[in-house]
Amino acid sequence: MNKASIVASRRSQRPESDPGPDPASQASQPSRKLTESPDHGLYKLFLEAGQTELPVQGLTERLRAAGILSDDPRAREIFDRMGQDKNARSIATSSEFNELFALNPSLIRRVAEDSLVIPDWDEFCRSIALIFQEAANVVDGKVAAYIPELASVPAEKFGLGICSVDGQRVHYGDAKDPFSIQSISKTVSYCLASEEVGPQALHAHIGREPSGHSFNAITLDPKRRPHNPMINAGAIVSCSLIKSEKSASERFAHVLETWKRLTADGDVSFNNTVFLSERDSADRNFALAYFLRENAAFPKNTGISATLDFYFQCCSVEMTCESMAIAAATLANGGVNPLTNERVFSIETVKNCLSLMHSCGMYDFSGEFAFLIGVPAKSGVGGGIMVVVPEVLGFCVWSPPLDEHGNSVRGIEFCKLLMSKYSFHNFDIVTGAEGEKVDPTRRKVSVRNARVVDLCWAAAKGDTKEIQRLIASGVDINGADYDGRTALHLAASEGQAASVQYILQNGGKRDAKDRWGNTPFDDAQRSGHLAVAEIFEHIQG
Ligand code: GLN
Repeated sequence: MNKASIVASRRSQRPESDPGPDPASQASQPSRKLTESPDHGLYKLFLEAGQTELPVQGLTERLRAAGILSDDPRAREIFDRMGQDKNARSIATSSEFNELFALNPSLIRRVAEDSLVIPDWDEFCRSIALIFQEAANVVDGKVAAYIPELASVPAEKFGLGICSVDGQRVHYGDAKDPFSIQSISKTVSYCLASEEVGPQALHAHIGREPSGHSFNAITLDPKRRPHNPMINAGAIVSCSLIKSEKSASERFAHVLETWKRLTADGDVSFNNTVFLSERDSADRNFALAYFLRENAAFPKNTGISATLDFYFQCCSVEMTCESMAIAAATLANGGVNPLTNERVFSIETVKNCLSLMHSCGMYDFSGEFAFLIGVPAKSGVGGGIMVVVPEVLGFCVWSPPLDEHGNSVRGIEFCKLLMSKYSFHNFDIVTGAEGEKVDPTRRKVSVRNARVVDLCWAAAKGDTKEIQRLIASGVDINGADYDGRTALHLAASEGQAASVQYILQNGGKRDAKDRWGNTPFDDAQRSGHLAVAEIFEHIQG
């Protein structure tokens, strides 16, 4: 891995196929400007400070800075046309710009308005690069050695791909290297089985509890079902339910095609050598399958060797961090691929799958992972972890050395570092205040601001009970609105004596200044609320 490339600005980390504008050729070109726009309001949003005309590269540069890459199916044509234009050195006409805007007006509008889910994508990427670099310092763990194909993968490989629910993407390190997805396949096997037979029928065969044992333990729940679909026994049963009437080739083609749809036709391939090795070293999985049959856990007429072959094939799929991140983002986006807009799984299927990933996706580290990281994830012994931050983004981190549970050591470290910086944990409920975690989506921040406004309203009305309730629910008593006005300012200006008293006794800052430099006491005096002014004098801060 090239560390220099990690810390360099994101723009220098474009895929090789995407060199971006060549500054030298730009400098030597006559200036190519757009003089008119079909939608002047939108057009103006693209202008930098001081610009009156939009340089031709303005549009593609903004797309790139927002995380929209040139191989994105939504923007490919825009990039292609701009690329051709650059080489031809022609001047773009306003009608050409009309056409570019028309290729995807909603995407272009959202980029211009900074309203994609992570508005400051460049800043987000810079901080992710640092976290990635820090995680690279971890060198513990052992590469899986039960088959030669995994044993020979270099331990220092380390890749990361991220894709937001708006299709903003970035990649670091070995994100374009194919790796063996192994148990990450259990997510798609579960979703496909569930879509086919329905969740009720599926869960008649597979439980929904963490097993408390290792992923290949020979154990069933009290109803004689595998504990869950995220461990080997459960995934073998999922496989038995997928297109069981069809031929082996049709069944596997269905799985591959599903991964393709999940990844917007990304890198998805099959490694036959891995498959043959898996099958040759599968005594435990054979034992599991016979144990399942002995306990009538399979649907009727399930063939053991056909089912196991199918399971090994699913484990022998290879993907890259780049492609897996898009699949993760599709799950984060409720089953709709953000790059193609295609619905791949139903909302119910995705919800069920994420619930199970959350409670069971990380083998017998699942409880710890749910506690520490707090989002659904699935790991594989190839060293990959697919992580879903619902409604925000999906990512895939890959590093082959594993811990005693079979999870990537660096991968887990990366997740921990990420969660210490960002408020992605499911139960990071109120964040964004100074010194706390960052909400790159700004959603929680705006929720927090809305709650501060509620507090100020309650103070202005003198509703001390509501003030009490809001503070107990975590609203900062000294939170200020846009004008720097705190609840104490409002209570004081409105002469709400009881509220002023309550706020002062509960940590309200008497010297808070609004944007005109006034303190709450100034407000009370100016508005002639002498009783309130007296309270300030009696209650010492
Ligand atoms: N192929 C492996 C097995 O079946 C997959 C297990 C895993 O990734 N945990 O044992």
